[in-house]
Amino acid sequence: MADIAGYSIVAKSLKRLGVTHVCSVPGGPVLETIAACGEEGIRPIGMRNEQAAVMMAAAQNYSAGKLVCVPILASGPGVSNAATGMLVAKDNCWPLLVLGGRSALNTRGLGPFQELDGVPVFRPLSKWAETVDRPTRIPDFLARGVLTATSGRPGPVFLDLPQDVLLSQTDEERITLPHPYDGVARPAGDPELIKEAAELLLNAESPLMIVGKGVRWSEPFSELRELTETLGMPFLTSPMGRGFIPDDHPLCMGAARSMAQRGADVVLLVGTRLNWTFRLGTELGPDTKIIQIDIDPTEIGLNRQPTVGIVGDVKPVLQQLLGELQGHTSGMAERAAESPWVTGLQEKRTENESGLENFYIQADQLPMTPHRMLKEIKDFIPRDTTVVVDGNIILGAGRQVIPSYEPATRLNSGSNGCMGVGVPFALGAKLARPDKPVVGIIGDCAFGFSAMEMETALRHNIPVVYLIANNDGISGATIQDANMPDHPERVMMYTEDIHYERIITAFGGHAEYVERPEDIQPAMQRAFDSGKAACINVKLDPRAPFPGPGGQMRPHRATLSY
Ligand code: ADP
Repeated sequence: MADIAGYSIVAKSLKRLGVTHVCSVPGGPVLETIAACGEEGIRPIGMRNEQAAVMMAAAQNYSAGKLVCVPILASGPGVSNAATGMLVAKDNCWPLLVLGGRSALNTRGLGPFQELDGVPVFRPLSKWAETVDRPTRIPDFLARGVLTATSGRPGPVFLDLPQDVLLSQTDEERITLPHPYDGVARPAGDPELIKEAAELLLNAESPLMIVGKGVRWSEPFSELRELTETLGMPFLTSPMGRGFIPDDHPLCMGAARSMAQRGADVVLLVGTRLNWTFRLGTELGPDTKIIQIDIDPTEIGLNRQPTVGIVGDVKPVLQQLLGELQGHTSGMAERAAESPWVTGLQEKRTENESGLENFYIQADQLPMTPHRMLKEIKDFIPRDTTVVVDGNIILGAGRQVIPSYEPATRLNSGSNGCMGVGVPFALGAKLARPDKPVVGIIGDCAFGFSAMEMETALRHNIPVVYLIANNDGISGATIQDANMPDHPERVMMYTEDIHYERIITAFGGHAEYVERPEDIQPAMQRAFDSGKAACINVKLDPRAPFPGPGGQMRPHRATLSY
């Protein structure tokens, strides 16, 4: 029997495990591994920075709904650059397997090139971090890595691949490649707790469901819809939980979220956490009864004690709940539709939405407001567009203006508010769904973190349309004005009127510079028609006022949450 190299074992194992893409800033000691992946039919994507590579892979996995893209990184600094992307995957609860190259184990401590033991670095940033110490173990390390990343609460895994392990030859007979086995368990909930939850929902006067991005993984989309419609129960979502039920569903109360949270007597939490996004649960009424469904037992009761806490996968648990409710819900939806709870929320939603609409109409000023820019984008994009939003002002405004209609088509700065994810996330989303449009709406500060990856987009033919919300700095002028008004230098403000779109011209992409609202849609049309990655730089007012939910003006805000 022939010998096989460690790097070939990696490539063959990844192929068996369903990986379709690897990404990297290629370098030693992983060059042979990347080439071997290409030979196995796994598409290698060459990036400009490992941080972006890891973020792109995490987003591609989220958009695809499974682990399909694996970063394979050059040693030392190439590996340490992965840290922020790993943290993003961890905080967003997204599956990710990162393979880090490492100098040969037999030179440990002797001063080899780019020596770094990544395992202790990544342990706090991952579900599992380990060194693959011999070629025969490569298949099971990788299989366990994928299973760990995708099972339970998804998250990142880091595996160190030393040069001597990658380059050594082993008798092929000693290698057993992983079986293409989806070992992810989808545990159901405790039937007694399901009964209690059903009882609470049947007796609720003002029930509310809150949907988060944790529902991505088992895809209980029809169950979510059936539950809300059978009970006539209003729902709202976390920032990325949008689109699993379309935002234009009559029971979606995203535009009346404060009233919905304050007024609900029973709240059903599915695949979401009462973390800072929901102000640690403090926006719910003090006596609100909570039903919490989460696959991670340690999440149950964090910040707010639930009346019923169900540990399980959201899909079987919702099916159990629907089964329990069956035969008891006759007429409930009709009664709910007439109830003061639902009609009151609908009125509030209409009031808030029309307030914002008035605000756009008034907002013909130049330079343009972020809201006006977003309204033009909203009116242009088809329903199945994946929208990536990254920044501060544009993130808050995006929440108010741009809806989502399909599962996992909304990506943004996410659970840890990471600035700079926008350019690579949009690449990942486009790789996951090449036939669907992807737009990245990105503040000028956030854009700067990974702007060079537009070259990656062109070289690999990943036609994302980027729109830069260019308000000349971090949060426009708002934070600098508020915190250091007399400072003589532009610390948080950048050089005025930077023509960022010219960068993509250097890479051979399509560029547009837009100052007037009516020019946005024609520019977007030309960008999509170019068939290439495109960059539309939109000049905005750095001091644009920010409207509250009802469209009433607020002064410049020093900080924003979303
Ligand atoms: P969001 O930002 O949308 O509120 P988070 O990422 O904060 O969402 O939380 C997602 C939650 O979903 C996590 O607590 C995670 O444990 C949970 N989760 C992930 N997958 C599943 C699943 N299959 N079933 C139930 N809960 C899940």
